[in-house]
Amino acid sequence: MYLYNSVSHKKELFVPNHPDIVKMYTCGPTVYHYAHIGNLRSYIMEDVLEKALRYLGYKVKRVMNITDVGHLASDADTGEDKMLKGAKRENKTVMEIAKYYTDCFFEDCGKLNIKTPDVVEPATNCIDEYIHMVSTLLEKEFAYFAGGNVYFDTSKLEKYYVFNDHKEEDLEVGVREGVEEDANKRNKNDFVLWFTKSKFEDQALKWDSPWGVGYPGWHIECSCISLKHLGEDMDIHCGGIDNAFPHHTNEIAQSEAYLGHKWCNYWFHVHHLNTEGGKMSKSKGEFLTVSLLEKKGYDPLVYRLFCLQSHYRRNLVFSWENLDNAKVTYEKLIAKIATLEEEGEVDTEAFHALKQRFETALNGDLNTSLAVTAVYDVLKAKCSDATKRAALADFDYVLGLNLLEAAKKYKDAQPKEEVDPEIDALVAARTAAKKEKNWAEADRIRDELKARGIEIIDTPQGAKWKRV
Ligand code: AMP
Ligand code: ZN
Repeated sequence: MYLYNSVSHKKELFVPNHPDIVKMYTCGPTVYHYAHIGNLRSYIMEDVLEKALRYLGYKVKRVMNITDVGHLASDADTGEDKMLKGAKRENKTVMEIAKYYTDCFFEDCGKLNIKTPDVVEPATNCIDEYIHMVSTLLEKEFAYFAGGNVYFDTSKLEKYYVFNDHKEEDLEVGVREGVEEDANKRNKNDFVLWFTKSKFEDQALKWDSPWGVGYPGWHIECSCISLKHLGEDMDIHCGGIDNAFPHHTNEIAQSEAYLGHKWCNYWFHVHHLNTEGGKMSKSKGEFLTVSLLEKKGYDPLVYRLFCLQSHYRRNLVFSWENLDNAKVTYEKLIAKIATLEEEGEVDTEAFHALKQRFETALNGDLNTSLAVTAVYDVLKAKCSDATKRAALADFDYVLGLNLLEAAKKYKDAQPKEEVDPEIDALVAARTAAKKEKNWAEADRIRDELKARGIEIIDTPQGAKWKRV
């Protein structure tokens, strides 16, 4: 499989460190509010990546954190904790907020056929691990204590900007207007590993540490949680593109300083879903959630298809019109699949030829739109319906569009042809009258049936009837 690696800026042949397992890590949600469908685009594409790897024969261990502490109002470490803001907004405790929105997140994932990773670890579970890593970084002099906080010293690194050659002003990314610079930092890029002093003294969750009572910075959780469950190296680290800087940049800085060697080989970043007005955000106007899509009558899998139709490394613009197009596409596709006969033999050779196209799409940097095209190739192929159904079931392991289940549901929902000997006889009599050119009798029967709420439909296969 060729995958684009954000570190090398190239598509690279994917080779896992250990032949028997792919170690994969995903930055999980900050559970202070519902996930918006932009967040979920990232999780859909990461889910497709995991399933594609499994489909191609790899064993995968995937770990995800749940950010329930330490993510401040900006992605740089300034502002109030997002969790505390959520708790204040809803007059609940931080842990109540975390539990509620974690459950909502997995409920949304379920509706979008996003598999739950093998390990899911809330950040608040791993305080001892953070303290250990921060202590080691202090011992190794990659960190310093100033003004009550422990900071990572980026000047100790040979290269800090691993993803891009950032300019100074890029450091302002994620920093809200009006946020003052932290005078304790030795270098502008330095970031907090452990807070004991913050302007926001009402931080709800705090723990004892060698540096005083406090709480961890945001970035440290992903380094420690991945280390805990995946060990000292990792194959693929995923996240939305906004996480590349500063979050992933800082994860790499602290993990490699701690370990003393390279940590993660491939970085998979999903580009953003934007609205026509620009960046999607939880504080701006209508907040797009899975529940809102459902309320407006969309099957969440229509949104999954919408995401699959474009490449993960392209920004995607959301509009209701674009979603409507995906809805029509999905419904037509399902109706077409519903016409396939269920009986018959699978032609193994034809099946493998179809599968080959699908695999080629996945192998080319997870080209999901081509993978969707492979579904149409199946429908157009000259092979038995059983072969087509087998290929669709096989592809759907990765696509997660419930192709056969939805087709069955569609078929079951079609009006059944009713059997009523008396009406059948009248319809037959009308057909006979028409044959004899006895139009008056034919019309009389039609009117009689109409009066009884029956409509006759003339089709090339003969007259049919339905209740209206
Ligand atoms: P958060 O809950 O804010 O920590 O974000 C969860 C995930 O969603 C992260 O991987 C983000 O990078 C990603 N993300 C945030 N906004 C978007 C967006 N508009 N489109 C796609 N992914 C996003
Ligand atoms: Zn992370």
